[in-house]
Amino acid sequence: MTQLQQLHARLEAAAFKITDNFCYACYKVVKADHCPGCLSDDFMRHLAGVGVEYGTEWVIEHLISTRCTPVDGEEMFADLLDECCEEIKIGCCTFSPSQILKELDPTAFRVGTQENLDALAEDGNLYEARGDYYQVTDIEDMLDEIESD
Ligand SMILES: [Zn+2]
Repeated sequence: MTQLQQLHARLEAAAFKITDNFCYACYKVVKADHCPGCLSDDFMRHLAGVGVEYGTEWVIEHLISTRCTPVDGEEMFADLLDECCEEIKIGCCTFSPSQILKELDPTAFRVGTQENLDALAEDGNLYEARGDYYQVTDIEDMLDEIESD
């Protein structure tokens, strides 16, 4: 299993842990492996106060978006630029590389920001959910908490 698959497996387990089985046919939460009403085990997930839906993806997205803080992609890219490129002095003024790129070519700055996020996600440092990116360590801390509950 890759690191990403491992993380996703933990997220899935956490999603099961914080939700209940829900039988749609009988329209009720079921505490057993089979519905006592209709004997079905084809359950939806029920998350108290949030909703009822098939699958765990929506529970995972809910967990991450409510319990973790997305990274600031623009700030991360700006820091990267400022670390690896020289400051520019014009007369008595000093400009940081990120300031210059953001000001003179906002499109390149946006594209660079996205590429940096994608690269970090590919390397397993960031996790994408609902279009936002989260530190994997942040998600792992949340999972530690849920798993030890
Ligand atoms: Zn049932």
